Amino acid sequence: MNIPMVDLKSQYLSLKNEIDAAMLEALEETHFILGPNVQAFEQEAADYLGVKHAIGVASGTDALHLALVAAGIGPGDEVITTPFTFIATAEAISYVGATPVFVDIDPYTLNIDLKQVEHAINAKTRAVIPVHLFGQPVDMEALVQLCDAKNLFIVEDCAQSFGAHINGKMTGGFGAFGAFSFFPSKNLGCFGDGGLVTTNDDKHANELRILRNHGSRERYHHNVIGYNSRLDELQAVILRIKLKHIDDYSQNRRRVAHRYSEALADTSIQVPYEDGKGLHVYHQYTLLHEKRDDIMTALQEKNIACAVYYPIPLHKQDVYMDAYKDIHLPVTESVAEKCFSLPVYPELENDNIDTITDVIKGAL
Ligand SMILES: *Cc1c(COP(=O)(O)O)cnc(C)c1O
Repeated sequence: MNIPMVDLKSQYLSLKNEIDAAMLEALEETHFILGPNVQAFEQEAADYLGVKHAIGVASGTDALHLALVAAGIGPGDEVITTPFTFIATAEAISYVGATPVFVDIDPYTLNIDLKQVEHAINAKTRAVIPVHLFGQPVDMEALVQLCDAKNLFIVEDCAQSFGAHINGKMTGGFGAFGAFSFFPSKNLGCFGDGGLVTTNDDKHANELRILRNHGSRERYHHNVIGYNSRLDELQAVILRIKLKHIDDYSQNRRRVAHRYSEALADTSIQVPYEDGKGLHVYHQYTLLHEKRDDIMTALQEKNIACAVYYPIPLHKQDVYMDAYKDIHLPVTESVAEKCFSLPVYPELENDNIDTITDVIKGAL
């Protein structure tokens, strides 16, 4: 047996005829930069996400970066975020010369702790970047209320939460901006790098379209220093096809997660906690246990993939360590020592899920 963390091949094979035909058509069309598929995908994604504007960019990291540029955030500004995320969340803050302020996480949802956000707000704070970690929405109604009262921008990091929603309102539609990634292993993944920024503000949307295309409003007229950060036409072809299946993918990720959680319910493992406020779309299925390393060894011996997201909190990373040496975030630090993630993808079969939980129970 060999169970991987993600299975991109079977997803491709299930859509192969449609993808191959559409790719060939785009190759014949040869409109490779900001072509018709990018435009169509932006509209389809905006419709699906329930936002006014969706702007395709080159990656999720760029989506976060360009959103902060469009918000006018720069040197001297503080941006509050979680230390328990992929490095890109903080990199974007550092790119614009602002200071990431890391606050502790909630021990159950593993998302940023809103009480800690409130404590960290001061006169320099300009924005908050909540990460809908592993696919579970942050309590955005509470965060929006807090940030509106303090006049702060929210840039939602939706890299792991495409299709997650709170009472039908999609992540990416609550803050001033939503930043999405289409890295191949994400819930909606393309065949390379890709990203998207969402906003309901016409002016910000216009700025983002200029920023991603060399600061150019009109060809060869450059108003600001921009970037080369466009969503690729061929990636847009794939995204348009996969977008039609995203609800089915989310439902199947939840099937996998709930089958794991039921099987592990009566063990000493802490299974993912759904706070009941929003729909968790399980980008990752992440467990906590003191004997994580032993359990992972048992899985690996059976050729079952597993991984630690994330072993080192951002304030403990080499690149940030010196600047944050006096900061102690006990929940994050303890979770990083106990967390491990199991394979989760829409195509994962029930028999395989049962084998995995049997191996874990054996190891306990
Ligand atoms: C993947 C990811 C990103 C970065 O997206 P890329 O498309 O790889 O640049 C940012 N934030 C989080 C939480 C991610 O998981």
